[in-house]
Amino acid sequence: HAKAAVGGRFQFFREEMNQAATERLLIESSLRQALARNEFRVFYQPQLDLASGRIKGMEALVRWRHPELGIVSPARFIPIAEETGQIIDIGKWVLREACRQAREWNADAGSALVVAVNVSAKQFEHGCFATQVRQVLEETGLPAHQLELEITESVIMDRPDHVVSVMKELRELGVRFSIDDFGTGYSSLSQLKRFPIDTLKIDQSFTRDIGLDEGGTAITRAVIALGHSLRLQVVAEGVETTEQQRFLAQHGCHGMQGYLFSRPVEPAAFGALLSMHVPSELPPEWQI
Ligand code: C2E
Ligand code: MG
Ligand code: MG
Ligand code: MG
Repeated sequence: HAKAAVGGRFQFFREEMNQAATERLLIESSLRQALARNEFRVFYQPQLDLASGRIKGMEALVRWRHPELGIVSPARFIPIAEETGQIIDIGKWVLREACRQAREWNADAGSALVVAVNVSAKQFEHGCFATQVRQVLEETGLPAHQLELEITESVIMDRPDHVVSVMKELRELGVRFSIDDFGTGYSSLSQLKRFPIDTLKIDQSFTRDIGLDEGGTAITRAVIALGHSLRLQVVAEGVETTEQQRFLAQHGCHGMQGYLFSRPVEPAAFGALLSMHVPSELPPEWQI
């Protein structure tokens, strides 16, 4: 009996594995055609200035509408695209689309929103990344200082000397840089100093812990303080509650992003949000 039960469980496990492997193969093979078939979309999530309540920019987040699997999360397909090298073309497409869209919104509204675009290590390694970015800015007409590239600590630690030179080249044009998911990687503070960084983005795992877990709350407070002393902007990700917003504002965090204000939305909805949004003054006790 015992043997049959173990065998059954193993069988079940194997089927699960097969299913995962099959899905991976399906994703891998259909990723190759996804760009040509126009299956990618860019969604935008607003970034708010905590002191004024204004929308100061947005993060571009890619979405893939797969003909059979439906919407596939970037967390699922970006790592595969990185392994296969397809991230180079996909990343370039997202960058161009995000810059074009930002330029259009800024022209319509006479605003100077900054668009944040996620960049993979593979894109940085690629020889002509800086040239590609420069080309996209020229083609779309977006001023360089309205583009922020989000990189993770792992990108920096990967090939620090190469990365720092590419960053400096782009920084000379005016492009900004932020460290995404800050605090979850292994970068050392002494290394970080070398890089031309403008913004630290507090990872949502720390934001989630505000007021609930002492360690997470302490890390959030420490990252904000670190940002202040290094003269960097600090933006909190994954803000879902007014308690979190209040804590962040009280501690002098500059910006926030999260479901509390808006999920990432399609361009038309973001445009509507821009035209409707009336910045709400924060109550005095929230002000820095
Ligand atoms: P990320 O850059 O750290 O983006 C933040 C993620 O948190 C997004 O997930 C966003 O939808 C989600 N989020 C925002 N606010 C909240 C909140 O209040 N609560 C919760 N629970 N989640 C929130 P998404 O869009 O699924 O993207 C996942 C990751 O995929 C991104 O993490 C980024 O690392 C990667 N990614 C997305 N688009 C691109 C891209 O165009 N290029 C590259 N290289 N990576 C991308
Ligand atoms: Mg990001
Ligand atoms: Mg993040
Ligand atoms: Mg992330």
